[in-house]
Amino acid sequence: MIAILGGGISGLAAAYELQKAGKDFILLEAENHLGGKIKSTSIEGFQLEMGPNTVLINNTEIKTLIDELELNEHIIKPDSEAVKNRFVIKKGQIEPIPNSLSSAVKSKLFGLNTIYHIFSEPFRKVKKSEKEESLADFSRRRFGKQIYRDFITPFVSGIYAGDPEKMSVSHTLNILKEAEEKHGSVLKGMMKIMKAKKQDPNNQSLPKEKIFTFKRGLAFLIDSIKEKIQSNVELNAKIVEIKFDGGKYIIVYQKANEIKELEVEKVISTLPAKHLANSIEKINVELSLQLKKINYVPAVVLHLAVEKSNITFNQKAFGLLSRKEEDVPFLGLLFNSRFFPHTAPQDKELFTIICGGYKQPSILNEKIENIHTKVDKALMKLNVTSSNSHLLHLQKWSDGIPQYEVGYDAIKKSIKDFHHQQKNFYIAGNFFGGVSVSDCVSNARNLARKLV
Ligand SMILES: Cc1cc2nc3c(=O)[nH]c(=O)nc-3n(C[C@H](O)[C@H](O)[C@H](O)COP(=O)(O)OP(=O)(O)OC[C@H]3O[C@@H](n4cnc5c(N)ncnc54)[C@H](O)[C@@H]3O)c2cc1C
Repeated sequence: MIAILGGGISGLAAAYELQKAGKDFILLEAENHLGGKIKSTSIEGFQLEMGPNTVLINNTEIKTLIDELELNEHIIKPDSEAVKNRFVIKKGQIEPIPNSLSSAVKSKLFGLNTIYHIFSEPFRKVKKSEKEESLADFSRRRFGKQIYRDFITPFVSGIYAGDPEKMSVSHTLNILKEAEEKHGSVLKGMMKIMKAKKQDPNNQSLPKEKIFTFKRGLAFLIDSIKEKIQSNVELNAKIVEIKFDGGKYIIVYQKANEIKELEVEKVISTLPAKHLANSIEKINVELSLQLKKINYVPAVVLHLAVEKSNITFNQKAFGLLSRKEEDVPFLGLLFNSRFFPHTAPQDKELFTIICGGYKQPSILNEKIENIHTKVDKALMKLNVTSSNSHLLHLQKWSDGIPQYEVGYDAIKKSIKDFHHQQKNFYIAGNFFGGVSVSDCVSNARNLARKLV
């Protein structure tokens, strides 16, 4: 018997793989529902995502998962024009992110000096060092301060809600570091990597437009996996301890007020780092201590309904990101109903606002009305709206997104050492191998296949 711990997308993707292979397994999940951070709902005719909104089919594992579950006919692609237009708030103004050289030359975001910094990047010295480097140091060193401030910080807060001064370049955007190390330049290296990717047959099978959703939201993916595996799922089962005894694992979990034990041969953990750390304290103190160092930033997601007549910023747009130094009470805004028109009724728009992250560490303590009022004020000041919005929903995630910070080398080593010692205990989840849904799917499926 194999135990899968945690029923987010990582646990579900692993479970699906074991189910396909006819393996005997059980998935234990603390909550009364599956999906973890993936949670969709509809309110007042709006289709909302509490967690991820923009999942990508950017690897073969997520593509084949969708193929195998026969979900292709349910896929909704975004509006092709809106999806290309992304914006950054700079000095209180909304500036488009240029998507061509000619628009970059005219852009208030970049300017000639920045373009010089980009094109002179291949002539800069390569830094070879054993020490982990922060994303901030790396990007300033290769591209200068302005690219770091106006492009890297908003981009990174859009994915990780994280602080590039703390984030490790090798563990967040390793592709950039590799490009520098292998090809002597990020620009040259990226061009070569992109060319190789284009020629890779695996990559050619991926759709050109990678963003997708379903009519009922991403929870449709969760429900589709659930249908296949539900007889092997135990909900409301909170793991409290894992013991190792005579070559077997004993999973101790709490169900209602009862403590239960389950003996298994193999374990796949997709628990968040802190929960895994607490449950393996007696099996491996070193890994437990390392896992406790992983910092999770909070995230607060607001869904706003806005009357079309109250919108002043009317461009076809995907989203708006904020630079670190901007005085705005959010990290980013998604114009959901512009790229997925089915998410709002005809006369209204749906905006999803993401707050929190490293910029607002204490946001969880703020009152919902205060957060909403501040966001509304900021949107009016930025000339996005002309009057107050209607708050449809507000979701607080206390342990929102794990951060791959400088120091992660030691954490990764500890996980690898653990895998050597405990041959039948596998670790997956978004703190190991990438936070995106597609990374989680890819890592979990590959890992489950090792057991098959
Ligand atoms: C606000 C937000 C926006 C995001 N946006 C995007 C996006 O647009 N695109 C994208 O690709 N990614 C996005 N992400 C990241 C992505 O959603 C997550 O990294 C991914 O869904 C994590 O999946 P997981 O299964 O590894 O972990 P989780 O979803 O966290 O699942 C872990 C599961 O373990 C369970 N669990 C916890 N403790 C225990 C215990 N003791 N016993 C049993 N079970 C336990 C939890 O209840 C949960 O179900 C976003 C994340 C957030 C928070």
